[in-house]
Amino acid sequence: MTYYSDENCLFCKIIKGDIPSTKVYETETVYAFRDIEPQAPQHIIIIPKEHISSTNEINEENSALIGDVYAAAATIARIEGFADNGYRIVNNCGMDGGQTVGHIHFHLLAGRYLQWPPG
Ligand code: AMP
Ligand code: ZN
Repeated sequence: MTYYSDENCLFCKIIKGDIPSTKVYETETVYAFRDIEPQAPQHIIIIPKEHISSTNEINEENSALIGDVYAAAATIARIEGFADNGYRIVNNCGMDGGQTVGHIHFHLLAGRYLQWPPG
């Protein structure tokens, strides 16, 4: 499968293996790896392999990839053993959302009770 990649994007470089990561799970369309600065005992980043810069760029053509991300999250939760205890999936969009990497990504957080609401 071919997908659009941005040569200046940190997460595209991780997908290509040009920057090392601790892989947790991978399918034809998504890649999951451990966050370098974990905010919970389990903190996994799930990304579509296609370079999409943020939720603002989701449309009818690419939205199935977000379903793939959620299917990956459910599989990872089972594999890693936290499906029953529960978890949180977070997508930060834009400056006020706290997005720091311009490749859409979903934080999968688990392993402790997560406060609500987030800060
Ligand atoms: P956000 O702030 O929502 O854009 O999330 C970006 C996340 O990527 C942060 O939680 C960072 O810790 C994480 N991150 C940045 N660089 C790397 C890297 N090289 N490997 C793994 N995680 C990273
Ligand atoms: Zn990218």
